[in-house]
Amino acid sequence: MSNPQKKRRTYKKALIMLVAIFLILIFRLVEYIGYDKAPGDRFVIMRVIDGDTVELAGGDRLRLLGIDTPEKGELYYDSAAMFLESLVLGQKSRIEYADKRRDRYGRLLGFVYVEDTIFVNRRILSAGLGYLYLVKDQELSRPRFKELLVAQRQAVGSKIGLWGIDRDYEDRYIASKLSLRFHRPGCSSASRIKQSNIRTFENMQEPLYEGLSPCRICRP
Ligand SMILES: [Zn+2]
Repeated sequence: MSNPQKKRRTYKKALIMLVAIFLILIFRLVEYIGYDKAPGDRFVIMRVIDGDTVELAGGDRLRLLGIDTPEKGELYYDSAAMFLESLVLGQKSRIEYADKRRDRYGRLLGFVYVEDTIFVNRRILSAGLGYLYLVKDQELSRPRFKELLVAQRQAVGSKIGLWGIDRDYEDRYIASKLSLRFHRPGCSSASRIKQSNIRTFENMQEPLYEGLSPCRICRP
C-alpha cells in the first residue's frame, strides 16, 4: 500500500471519529436541555431550590406535583429542602406526568421517582414536611394523588413535622364547596364565600383528611 493511500485512510478514520464525538455531544446536550423529559427518560438532579423544586443537569427546573412545602421564613422550610436533597441530589431520576408537562413558569411538573422505587413527592408528605396540594377534585380519582393523600393522612395522624407544630387552633374551619382550600373563620378570602357554598369543619383534621389544603393567607 502506498503512503498517500494510508494517509487518506487515517484521515477518514479521524473524520468519522470526530463526527461521532460531535453527534454524541449534541445528543447529550439535547438530552439535558430544552425538551420535556419523556416518562422513560432518566435525568440527574443537580440542585435543590426548595422543598418542592429542583434543578436538573442542564438547568431545566422541575416542580414536584401535588405537594406544597413551606415558604422561606416558615417553619420547616430548611428541613423540607434538606430532606429533598438527601433523597434526590445527584441521583438518576425519572418523571411521571399528570396532565400538562410544564407549569405556567415553564417548569416541568410531575411525580419524581429515584431508582424507580422512591416516590419522592410522597416521601415529603410522609415526613410531614409538606402539604398535599390539589388543583382539581378529579385528581383524587388517580392512584398517585391518592397515594399522596394517604401519606398525608398518616403524617397528620402521627403528628410529625408540620403536623406537630403548636398552632392557634380555631373552634371551626371553613371552606367553599367550590374550592380545595380551607380557612380560619376570620380569613378575608373566606369572607367572600357565598353562604350557600360554605362548608364548616369542627377541626383541622377533617378538611386535611379529605385532601383540602390550608389557605396561604390565613395559614390555619
Ligand atoms: Zn384563608
